[in-house]
This record gives sequence, C-alpha cells and structure tokens, in this order.
Amino acid sequence: SIDFNTIMQNNRGSTMQTITVDFTPSSEKRSYPIHIGYGILQQVDLIVSCLPQKRVAVVSNTTIAPLYLNKLRIALEERGVSSVPIILPDGEAHKNWETLNLIFDALLQNHCERNTAILALGGGVIGDLTGFAAATYLRGVPFIQIPTTLLAQVDSSVGGKTGINHPSGKNMIGAFYQPRMVLADSATLNTLPDRELRAGLAEIIKYGLIRDPAFFDWLEQNMHRLLARDSVTLNEAIQRSCENKAEIVAADEKEKGIRALLNLGHTFGHAIENGMGYGVWLHGEAVAAGTVMAAELSRRMKLISDVDVQRIRKILLQAELPVVAPKMPLEKYMQLMTLDKKVEAGKSRFILLNRIGEAVMRADIAPAILNETILACMS
Ligand code: NAD
Ligand code: MG
Repeated sequence: SIDFNTIMQNNRGSTMQTITVDFTPSSEKRSYPIHIGYGILQQVDLIVSCLPQKRVAVVSNTTIAPLYLNKLRIALEERGVSSVPIILPDGEAHKNWETLNLIFDALLQNHCERNTAILALGGGVIGDLTGFAAATYLRGVPFIQIPTTLLAQVDSSVGGKTGINHPSGKNMIGAFYQPRMVLADSATLNTLPDRELRAGLAEIIKYGLIRDPAFFDWLEQNMHRLLARDSVTLNEAIQRSCENKAEIVAADEKEKGIRALLNLGHTFGHAIENGMGYGVWLHGEAVAAGTVMAAELSRRMKLISDVDVQRIRKILLQAELPVVAPKMPLEKYMQLMTLDKKVEAGKSRFILLNRIGEAVMRADIAPAILNETILACMS
C-alpha cells in the first residue's frame, strides 16, 4: 500500500498541469479542466471548489477503495464535505445493468440530490459506469472523474463517453455526459499492476498514430522510461495524450466526424474483447492487436508503407503489448464487427492509416481484403 505523506514529500515541486476541454463559444459553461500531476489527489480544494453542495457520493471498487478511498474521504471531511461511499465489484465483467443498479440503489437510499456530485474514483470501468449513472440519476447530476489507471488518465476519463456493456456488444448502452473536472494523479499509478500500465500505453500510442507524429517519435525514444514508471516521463505522456483528446473532443463532441479516428484499432479490438469474454483480454491489449490489424488492412489498401507498419509493430512490442490477434473463427470476427457503433446503413467503417500520424475513416473495404487481413493477423 501507499503512504500519502511520502508522496507529498516526493512531490517533485508539485508541478501540476491543467488542460481545458474547451467547448467555447458553443457551450462555454460545459468547458472543464483536466488537472494532471504527481500527488495532486492531496489537493482536495481542487475538488471542493467545484462542488455545488457539501456532500458527494464516491463510486469506487473493492480494489481501489482500500488504497485511496479513505484518504480522499478524510480529506474531504476536513473541508466540511461529507461523502457516501459506493463500492462496486471489480472488473470489466461487472460493467453492466446489475452493477449500474447498485449505484442507483445507493444514491436513492442515501437521499442523494440533484446537487450531490458523484465522483468516480477508479479506472475506465468505474468512470464509464459512474458517468452513466450521473447522466441518468435524477436526469443528470454533477460528475467528477478521478482516474486511477493509465488508460483512464489518458483516455476514458476525458471526453464524456459513458456507458455499460451489453452481452452482445461493448459499450452498447450509454450517454455522452461531460464531467465538471478531471483530476489525474499520476502517483496513483504506483500501485497499478504492470499489465494494466501496458494496456494504457496502447491508447497513448494511438494518439501518435492518428494525429501526432512527433509524439510517436518521442514515444519510441521514451518507452523504456514509461515502462519504468519514471514520473516525469509519465506526466508528459499523460499531458500530451490529454491535449490530443481534448482537442478532438472539443472539435467533435458527439462523434460526427474526426472523433471517430480515436477508434483506431477498436473495431477489431472490440471483437477480440467480446469474442474472448470480457476481461480475458484487457481493453488496451485488444486495441494493440487491433491496431496491428488496422495497420495491416491499411497496407493492403495501399495506404501505409511497410516501413511504417514495422514501426507500429515494434513500438507495441517495446510496450510489451500483443501484436498477434487471438485465434477465433473468421465468421466470429465478422459477426462481432457488425456490432461496431461506426456501422452506417449496414456498412462497416474502419479507421485506417495513411502514415504514422495520419488516420482516415473508410467504408469501402472489400470483404476479401478484410478476410485476408484477419487471417494473416491471427496466431
Ligand atoms: P479497469 O477500470 O478495469 O481497471 C483495471 C484494473 O486496475 C482493475 O482491476 C482496477 O480495479 C485496477 N486499478 C485501478 N486503479 C488502480 C490503482 N491505482 N492501483 C491498483 N489497481 C488499480 O480498466 P481500465 O483499463 O482503466 O479501463 C477500461 C475500460 O475503459 C473499458 O471498459 C473501456 O471500454 C473503457 N474505456 C472508455 C473510454 C471512454 O471514452 N469512455 C475510452 C477508453 C476505454
Ligand atoms: Mg479505447
């Protein structure tokens, strides 16, 4: 477990960075800050200042609560803020209606009101479940993200996609609902299992691939530091990722256009996650293998070069992520991919790469090329 006083002392000058998800001019009051820094969970004033009421509900899970929940609740209490803890079972397999109902039950039993903010303290599963609960409880209550996994800090906590899985597809039920604030404390990553850290790296690499070639170069140079959890390097990667995501979300909140590019590797990845059973392959692992599949499809579509495809494979291997897709029948891949949310008028759309740093969405994929790609990428 982790000693918060030690973190405070080691707090490397407490350099906090703040990035804004900026919806001005269309919707200025929904713009919100993403605070990033080592040890900033201690700075509860950041949270308290955006609460409409001196009472909150904090949703977490059985793994994260023992590490961070009590410290947070005590710090809030010291500022006169009382909190209702809601502790869920851990795991992607619990990202469903039953678990969502546990949140509603607790909110109702504790008489939480329209002004009672809900805090999500955890990874992407807790963030997605809690965000959906906040979007729908009493038709919407204030919501704050406190992401504690690398994946959640660089991706899922930013941008307002919330929701749950359906037995027949990932994230099929949900809402767009922006948080009031995101507070990403990179010190919480000290307790994260290695495998989860690597899963987060997949989404970081994605930003370089779809729109930030300089970041991709930087990642090639710094991957070993990220794997060693060097906190300065981690903070830099989190910031750069959040800047990329914040720009995309501000430009296209409801995924009418460029936001879809964030789904690089996800059409294949979701098929892997669902097909193997939720939780068997981590989301980031499935995205890594899915990214190789998307790159291979791009190469077969005469878009990306061989050299770039090799660089993609190499950086994912450097990050110790899977680059080979699991063996499933071709028909199973195809059937699972028809559940993709990008399907329009029955046609699957794929995010492909022209080169490292430039992605495109294409609907004109010949079935034969798709089949060939999947077969070539499987173990
Ligand atoms: P997760 O939430 O399951 O967390 C991974 C594991 O780490 C869990 O066991 C969790 O309890 C544990 N954990 C979390 N923080 C910890 C810490 N600091 N120390 C020790 N253990 C800790 O998984 P994830 O990778 O964070 O998120 C994956 C989910 O996010 C998927 O459901 C995916 O669909 C979703 N997602 C959503 C978006 C979005 O835009 N909303 C984007 C990407 C992914
Ligand atoms: Mg993702």
